[in-house]
Amino acid sequence: MRTRQFLRRGAVVALSALILTTAAQAQQAPAQQTPAQQTQVVLLGTGTPPADPDRFGAATAIVVNGTAYLVDFGAGVVRRAKAAVVDRGIAALDPVKLRVVFATHLHSDHTVGYPDLILTPWVLGRRVPLEVYGPSGIAHMTEHVIEAYREDFATRTKDRKLYTVGAFAEGHAVNAHEIKPGVVYKDANVTVTAFATKHAMESYGYRFDTPDRSIVISGDTNPTQATIDACRGCDVLIHEVLTHDWLSRRPDFHAYAAVHHTTTSQLTELAKQAKPGLLILYHASISWRPAVDSERSPQAVLLKEMAAYPGRVVVGRDLDVY
Ligand SMILES: [Zn+2]
Ligand SMILES: [Zn+2]
Repeated sequence: MRTRQFLRRGAVVALSALILTTAAQAQQAPAQQTPAQQTQVVLLGTGTPPADPDRFGAATAIVVNGTAYLVDFGAGVVRRAKAAVVDRGIAALDPVKLRVVFATHLHSDHTVGYPDLILTPWVLGRRVPLEVYGPSGIAHMTEHVIEAYREDFATRTKDRKLYTVGAFAEGHAVNAHEIKPGVVYKDANVTVTAFATKHAMESYGYRFDTPDRSIVISGDTNPTQATIDACRGCDVLIHEVLTHDWLSRRPDFHAYAAVHHTTTSQLTELAKQAKPGLLILYHASISWRPAVDSERSPQAVLLKEMAAYPGRVVVGRDLDVY
């Protein structure tokens, strides 16, 4: 794993040397909150590229013992995190506590919240660097995001006597870790194992093992044996999915979807082999309201297409907690 640190102090970018480290809304019941001591899955954003006001950009939080770990950072990630604090009582998602994040891949619908994740918690008072793990290119993206906000960093840090809230220099540093499959992160709460997925670019799914749960998240991917192997009876599998219903209206997307995404029938077969305790559908080709996007499928259609799956399955909504 290759790690680079990006930190701007005033107008100077300090780059550390390369370091090798070993290192169905109507049909389904509302998600139940689990006790705070137990691992929680918080769906911050279940959306896809369209600007759906009901489904923010892809972002998921795993919360263990008061610590949050994020997977992906799509549009609105920090405000969704704050909504989880205010509306779901999950204090670990307070923006200043967002510190460890994993990127499945670098498509914009999964990463356009990156400046927000670097800057907003820093402005609010985060004092420690952001640790980001992801595919090749995450270091390059990090470097350029930080450079893009050169003026912000400069102005917020120059007048420490006048500007005393937040903006501690260390809090806008980012340690970018470019990963390979295998264990990529481990602490007292969690072991995170990356597995290669099959998408339009280098991409990873992640398995989280915590003291009480095992959780696998697919990111965007074609069906892969690696996902099945990562789950193998895991407690929760969070997987992307496209409906045949939507694809029937989008013949232009068929060739791309056939190699980079997963249909309901493909996911049914995959999940039968993976055997998760709970299958959460996210990044799905649905909309909750026809006025938002009538081309996309209602969630009832999505569930109907998954009817042959014998296990427990739910359609994830933003701010659901499992
Ligand atoms: Zn993608
Ligand atoms: Zn995506």
